[in-house]
Amino acid sequence: MAETSKTYKVTLLPGDGIGPEIIAEGVKVLDAVGERYGFSCEYTEALLGGCAIDVCGTALPEETLRVAQASDAVLLAAVGGPKWDTTDPDKPRPEQGLLGIRKALGLYANLRPVRIFSALADASTFKPDVVEGVDLIIVRELTGGLYFGARERFYDEEGAGVDGGRGQRAFDTMEYREYEIERIVRHAFETARKRRNRVHSIDKANVLETSRLWREVTHRIAAEYPDVELIDMLVDNTAMQLVANPSQFDVVVTENMFGDILSDEASMITGSLGMLASASLGDGTALYEPSHGSAPDIAGLGVANPLAQILSVEMMLRYSFGENEAADAIANAVERVLADGWRTRDLANDADSAEKIVGTQAMGDLVVGALD
Ligand code: NAD
Repeated sequence: MAETSKTYKVTLLPGDGIGPEIIAEGVKVLDAVGERYGFSCEYTEALLGGCAIDVCGTALPEETLRVAQASDAVLLAAVGGPKWDTTDPDKPRPEQGLLGIRKALGLYANLRPVRIFSALADASTFKPDVVEGVDLIIVRELTGGLYFGARERFYDEEGAGVDGGRGQRAFDTMEYREYEIERIVRHAFETARKRRNRVHSIDKANVLETSRLWREVTHRIAAEYPDVELIDMLVDNTAMQLVANPSQFDVVVTENMFGDILSDEASMITGSLGMLASASLGDGTALYEPSHGSAPDIAGLGVANPLAQILSVEMMLRYSFGENEAADAIANAVERVLADGWRTRDLANDADSAEKIVGTQAMGDLVVGALD
């Protein structure tokens, strides 16, 4: 066992549904890898989402934010469920907790890796030769652009038109400041340096002024990274290339809405929702979570797949703590467990033998066992 020298403060936000079950496995793996690589973690658990609404009447209690801001990283599972579904705009909703904490922590970069674990290549709906070797990461700008610009809906004379419209008009605004582009693009180049030194910058510079600024700033930053290859690609072409030839991509950087759409498209290359992790980074404490939701349909049954949560622990080690060897150990352990044929129910297909289909805790134990 390595000597423990460093201690990281980690906030745990189990949330709702399968959240508490999967985060327990993330913690189990984090502790096990810490023992092997000479660090430990000090945990503080806090409320977010539906469980916070039940206890405090709000999805993001002040105490949760205080604890999160004082920690080195935040590990989140998932929030939400039918109990808190409402269309009443005056009632609190679980996802307000998520949006609120991202905003309060200033998380402007969202990283979503998409990689094919070779043992799961048959879970993809793509042909095996198309998905083989896919290992890309989407770096999406998270706090600017169309989703945060001025918007309005109003009535006017012209809106009525000639065919009996009631005169409504609406607009949304896409706006970017140079510094917002600079910091996300820099993130992409730094990430590429730790990977395969290639950045695809996605825009719509043949039409949009924001995209022309995006491209200009990106090329200026690229000059500081002569070891990284930069490729500009229009967003419509990217949508095609992601399904035609996804293995050409390493780091893909783009603005908020393009990134929202492209990251969902790219995630389906793997075909396994239970395998996708994500990181949201700013200049301070970062947040790590699986890409899937709280899966209320299987909550409490002990069958949820904890691997996306465990892979979000891998990202935390890499991006917040710089514990790259420990992060690699987790990735390799997951790869090995899958190669040995172990599956949670969601990953299993007809060809998998029933004895190798395991529950949430057993999957966590297998990953720990494969660390050595
Ligand atoms: P979901 O991702 O929770 O579930 C979709 C399907 O995938 C379900 O059949 C579920 O059982 C399955 N699934 C998801 N994660 C799994 C896992 N780890 N192991 C095995 N199976 C898994 O999406 P949904 O059903 O649309 O949403 C359920 C709730 O989660 C909603 O309240 C929604 O608002 C919330 N949600 C939260 C987040 C988040 O916290 N980041 C993201 C998406 C949805």
